Amino acid sequence: MVISQRQKEIMEAIGDASIGSWRDWRWQIKHCIRSIDTFQELLGITFSEFQREQFTATINKFPLSITPYYLSLIDSEAYNNDPIFKQSFPGIEETRIMKSEMSDPLHEDQDSPVVGITHRYPDRVLFIVSNICAMYCRHCTRKRRVGDKDSIPNKMQIREGINYIKRTPQIRDVLLSGGDPFLLSTAYLDWILTELGKIKHVEVVRIGTRTPVVLPYRIDTELVTMLKKHQPIWINTHFNHPRELTGSSREAIAKLADGGFPLGNQTVLLSGVNDCPRIMRSLVQKLVANRIRPYYLYQCDLSEGLSHFRTPVGKGIEIMESLIGHTSGFCVPTFVVDAPGGAGKIPVMPNYLISWSTNKVVFRNYEGVISVYKEPDSYEPTFCDRNCDKCEMPLTLDDADERKAIGIEKLLADYDKTISLIPRNNERLARRK
Ligand SMILES: *Cc1c(COP(=O)(O)O)cnc(C)c1O
Ligand code: SF4
Repeated sequence: MVISQRQKEIMEAIGDASIGSWRDWRWQIKHCIRSIDTFQELLGITFSEFQREQFTATINKFPLSITPYYLSLIDSEAYNNDPIFKQSFPGIEETRIMKSEMSDPLHEDQDSPVVGITHRYPDRVLFIVSNICAMYCRHCTRKRRVGDKDSIPNKMQIREGINYIKRTPQIRDVLLSGGDPFLLSTAYLDWILTELGKIKHVEVVRIGTRTPVVLPYRIDTELVTMLKKHQPIWINTHFNHPRELTGSSREAIAKLADGGFPLGNQTVLLSGVNDCPRIMRSLVQKLVANRIRPYYLYQCDLSEGLSHFRTPVGKGIEIMESLIGHTSGFCVPTFVVDAPGGAGKIPVMPNYLISWSTNKVVFRNYEGVISVYKEPDSYEPTFCDRNCDKCEMPLTLDDADERKAIGIEKLLADYDKTISLIPRNNERLARRK
């Protein structure tokens, strides 16, 4: 694939280039734009002295890094409104920290049995294996650690993480994240995947990476060949705007899809970038056309300095309303709010259930048509006391997990006697003797 005129100009301005350099991911990383001056030069923009001071103060808190490739997607004529610019260039609003914001709103560091692992859900863990990225997203929820030289996970830490997974048999899904795991060397990632592959109870590994968006050339044959040895691997990427699906990006995605990796996408809902039903519909449709299944749409977290990116939750619900029914089911992500305090991802949807009786359920569809579903006249409920040996429903016990009911599931289960879930420090209960 040929590179654009704009990309040629940027490459020439950077210098240190020969034919093919642009598509060499190491060249891209080596020439990441890390200073306001270089940024101005390459885009032909001049900021005022005051602005430059503000930007510099911002990047002292969270570094600036943009790959020449991602920079080349910015429309320098109208950069102020450009979704690529807004995601990658520091905003002075970032230094404004609101009372409601936190450095670790999701309590990832508290739900952490060993450094680098967050074990929040029963059967899966988040494993931070890298803390650098090719491009530092200004909306990054992990600003407290990403890009910070003091929190680069060393090999000993990674080994401890692997040991935790080894000694915790309920973990069947390991989610490698960061930072960006694809910024590790192929050999190092190969080592991590080999170690995880030796653990019997780990059934699947997921990798979260933004390289297909900001450094598509990283997805080379060497990487894909290495990853293929470690199937099953699911890969989740992070496209936020349809403009990011360029030729180079689509090529990278095709390599991964042809390699046999199921692909998902996580989008962050961002004010002024993609908080628009038309932009979002175009994005999800383009993703699907490129064999990526939209997985989550995230409400922007309460991390420090992100208030200018946040939208009301209602904007996300409005976008879901405009997707469900209007486009293919597999274009529709799940909209989630990652709840502060470590409660995890809470799915949020418009309401489709209007009313119900013992006999009938009333729904509405995306068009506003209201219909009724008649419940069965008789239904023989299966009483479950978890005595599966005696049960008439066929279940091979080897395939059944052994865990107890958790949370609301408890209240619904026949085999659990819990009749209510009570918040800690409930005053009414404190009054009881
Ligand atoms: C998002 C997340 C996961 C994975 O959640 P899924 O809903 O299975 O994709 C696991 N652990 C942590 C800490 C997470 O934030
Ligand atoms: S790619 Fe992910 S971890 Fe890296 S800066 Fe962006 S949001 Fe943060």
